Amino acid sequence: MKKLIAATASLAVCAALAQQDFSKVEIKATQLGPTTWMLTGAGGNLGVSAGDDATFLIDDQYAPLTERITAAIAKISPKPVKFVVNTHWHGDHTGGNENLGKAGVVIVAHDSVRKRMSTDQFIELFKMKEPASPHVALPVVTFADAVTFHLNGDEIQVMHVAPAHTDGDAIVYFSKSNVIHMGDTYFAGMYPFIDTSTGGRIDGMVAACDKALALGADDTKIIPGHGPLSNKVELKAWRDMLAAISTRIHKMVADGKKLEDIVAANPTADFDSKYGGGFVKGPKFVEMVTLNVMKNP
Ligand SMILES: [Zn+2]
Repeated sequence: MKKLIAATASLAVCAALAQQDFSKVEIKATQLGPTTWMLTGAGGNLGVSAGDDATFLIDDQYAPLTERITAAIAKISPKPVKFVVNTHWHGDHTGGNENLGKAGVVIVAHDSVRKRMSTDQFIELFKMKEPASPHVALPVVTFADAVTFHLNGDEIQVMHVAPAHTDGDAIVYFSKSNVIHMGDTYFAGMYPFIDTSTGGRIDGMVAACDKALALGADDTKIIPGHGPLSNKVELKAWRDMLAAISTRIHKMVADGKKLEDIVAANPTADFDSKYGGGFVKGPKFVEMVTLNVMKNP
């Protein structure tokens, strides 16, 4: 009974971000180059480098999907996952850490990811509690600025960006394969969630896009944290949308407008048809950005 209550409580906690029935989730692999793949299932998009040296994974979605993720990777390479990089601490990107950690996979992330996963967290916007992760799920290698993996003929550059979606984001540049994984600094085709309560900043989201846009070439393939495979043209348009909405809201906050007045002014109106179809709708995005700007004027 105790177990059942705990399970029910944890389900309620996850409901805001994860209303999926995992039994029906399929992991699909899309090959992006000779040694790189994007995998989708439920939760954050995965990136994979596989080849002669070792299998390298970006993010690991939810614990119930670990077996399906490793089965999908087994179809790509006979080598099991040796390293996993977490793009940030959120549970839809780190939920598989415990299983992978137990299997001996080396977990790598920004310093802040380990810090946040070590203690209970609270995502204010969704009133969502995220309990501390077990020891085995924590990153064992952490970095402050950047770390490079020399694997499979690639140079995989994992780079921290200034606070954007959280305070511990990393973007990953597969420099030889011409692929970038942006973690949740990019939600392709939809308004993003910005986690103000763990250090996220709208201005940092724009800066992270600028950093990615300066890497690679015109034809660089972009794996967003959420949404379909993307490219620089779409990323640039999305970045400009963020910058435009940020500028409008900064001005209204500077003018002393209240949250309800700013939401009523509908500053996302001209973007809602293109980006308002995700889990964050226009008015929620305005509320999120306004509270973010009020906290970080
Ligand atoms: Zn996230």
